[in-house]
Amino acid sequence: ENKILEVKSLKKYFDMGKGELLQAVNDVSFHVNRGETFGLVGESGCGKSTIGRTILGLYKKTDGDVIFDNENVHDLNEKERFKFYRKMQMIFQDPYASLNPRSTVREVISEPMEVHKLYKTKEEVTERVYELLEEVGLNREHANRYPHEFSGGQRQRIGIARALALNPDFIIADEPISALDVSVQAQVVNLMKQLQEDKGLTFLFIAHDLSMVKQFSDRIGVMYLGNMVELTDSAELYEKPLHPYTQALLSAIPIPDPDIEEKRERIILEGELPSPINPPSGCVFRTRCPMAMEVCSQIKPVWQEVEQAHFVACHLYDETIENKNQLKKQPE
Ligand code: SF4
Ligand code: MG
Repeated sequence: ENKILEVKSLKKYFDMGKGELLQAVNDVSFHVNRGETFGLVGESGCGKSTIGRTILGLYKKTDGDVIFDNENVHDLNEKERFKFYRKMQMIFQDPYASLNPRSTVREVISEPMEVHKLYKTKEEVTERVYELLEEVGLNREHANRYPHEFSGGQRQRIGIARALALNPDFIIADEPISALDVSVQAQVVNLMKQLQEDKGLTFLFIAHDLSMVKQFSDRIGVMYLGNMVELTDSAELYEKPLHPYTQALLSAIPIPDPDIEEKRERIILEGELPSPINPPSGCVFRTRCPMAMEVCSQIKPVWQEVEQAHFVACHLYDETIENKNQLKKQPE
């Protein structure tokens, strides 16, 4: 196992004024192996994008560590950070918003190469732009056109070409297919898979929908209200979800077979997502958890490896707490 990224007890709080803190990321730990895709999943507002931006150093951490390629990202000086961006790049959800509408495709893709002075001549840059366009399934005729002339899927390809311009090792893809038509989503995922194979890329793939990360991720971390609640292999997570929140997310994915679909029990989560400014005591999921026990409001469940390489934070699997099942379900 060859870790390229390690996130250790990462915390990111935002000061909202009046003494209020928004606990966007609370004590999250995971690692990403070189060449794999790590999927980060959860409802919007659960802290996934904040983790992505904090890993990249776009946000200052509140606490914890981000180790990339044996370097502590938040300890880098300006010059080192500049170099670090050659190794780690980000793709955004809305490719249109992230591309300057007044820049041609050529300008959009060549900008990072120029900022980092990757080539000596304009001709070399142009050659590289053509090459990148072909790598993402576009062609050189597209270079002098503007982003608005392209479909959503094509714009995401342009965004990917720009992210690839510096030959990064690691790409944070923040909901890269969420804004695309279902028919186009698979094409973009296939492109990312192909590029991963060809270039040995590592992906942190952020999505709000488990069905989206399913086909693409080697391992998956599930987030809820700033906390990671479960982490394991992609296949294991689908076959044997342990956390009640993961079970609910999975039960919401339709199964194509009508016989199975009919018999299946859908877990509907009651109640609203609590505010990350004032999260519930104990387990953050307890206000919506169908399995909640009294202990859940009193003690925060610890993050532990309950089976090999299968981590979960839930009292149902915590053997250090006795008699938890005799504790009555908390009153509403
Ligand atoms: Fe539910 Fe309690 Fe487990 Fe939290 S710790 S997920 S409230 S059973
Ligand atoms: Mg987001």
